[in-house]
Amino acid sequence: TQRPVKCNGCGIKLQTEHKDLPGYIPEVAFEREPVICQRCFRIKNYNEASSVSVNQDEFLRLLSGVGEKNALVIHIVDLFDFEGSLISGLQRFVGNNPVILAVNKSDLLPKVTNWNKMRNWLQQRCKEQGLRTVEIVLVSAKRNQGFDRLLEAVTEQRGQRDVYVVGATNVGKSTLINRLISDYSDLEQELTTSRYPGTTLDTVKIPLDDGHYIIDTPGIVYPWRYSELVERQDLEAVMPENTLKPAVYQLNEGQTLFFGGLGRFDFVQGVHQSFTCYISSTLKIHRTKLERADSLYQEHRGVMLSPPASDHMDKLPQWQRHEFSISKGTQTDLFISGLGWIKVNGTEGAVVAIHVPRGVKVLTRPSLI
Ligand code: GDP
Repeated sequence: TQRPVKCNGCGIKLQTEHKDLPGYIPEVAFEREPVICQRCFRIKNYNEASSVSVNQDEFLRLLSGVGEKNALVIHIVDLFDFEGSLISGLQRFVGNNPVILAVNKSDLLPKVTNWNKMRNWLQQRCKEQGLRTVEIVLVSAKRNQGFDRLLEAVTEQRGQRDVYVVGATNVGKSTLINRLISDYSDLEQELTTSRYPGTTLDTVKIPLDDGHYIIDTPGIVYPWRYSELVERQDLEAVMPENTLKPAVYQLNEGQTLFFGGLGRFDFVQGVHQSFTCYISSTLKIHRTKLERADSLYQEHRGVMLSPPASDHMDKLPQWQRHEFSISKGTQTDLFISGLGWIKVNGTEGAVVAIHVPRGVKVLTRPSLI
């Protein structure tokens, strides 16, 4: 039988000569099925080993020793769900080890975004959470942006340490690790998975050429993120795939916006002003009168006001109303974890309310954009 010429994974021409060049396959690997290049092999193994997730308590227990080790920590967060995906209390258990904050999904923000201002904003939020970062890097794992800077920062900070990658679920950690794996193409060893003693939790160890490792830890499940609450089929309605198209609404007090059947915004009191919704464009926004909003919801939930479809809707917790007084002279976002945010553009102050399933994190913050 003839040996395959091309990698069954990525289609690249296979070669057995140069470990450092694309398409490399060790001689013995021709006996494996499917026949794939070394790079694809690692990524495939990684993906099979990396699906574990844990809650924050388990996670902190799991990594409780890191503070005593000499480690570099890459904390990856989702820019779209920043407050929902930041690991609070991270500082306590990393000790004096340096933390690089990789802020992923930057591709979701409009092109006109002022990135310097954004970096300041991120620094401010980290400070409030007591998190000291040696570097904040904006990346897009999907668009392959920001990696040169991230890898530079890792090289600068790493010294003789292992690199721990930590993050919540769905922040793009796998996508990032896959990128790191395919970037470190001079690897000679295979990925190994290891269990922490006394637990069943896997980490994935990616060997670096100097004998140290990148250690991928289980993703943390945070119950307050909308993306954890909805059914798989509704995930794309909450998690935007493409650059957000901000939707601007000029509203009078007493008007309401529905975000499909996933949430609701009431403009309770204030002068006529505009509000900008940063949510997935797959989610339809319906404008109505506040006084009619309850009955509209009862009549149209799961149908006109969807997703979620009615059978999914019944699995979500009851809606809870959160009221906020936006003070005069500030630029504020109403943030809904995993669903996006609404920017209050006016500076005259307003009373507003958000309705989402009980447990979803809702808060106000200085405007991101
Ligand atoms: P993990 O759970 O942290 O390992 O996250 P994944 O790597 O599986 O990604 C979770 C979801 O986020 C997937 O739907 C990815 O397509 C998406 N995603 C990952 N990175 C990016 C990114 O840079 N931009 C955007 N828009 N989506 C991303």
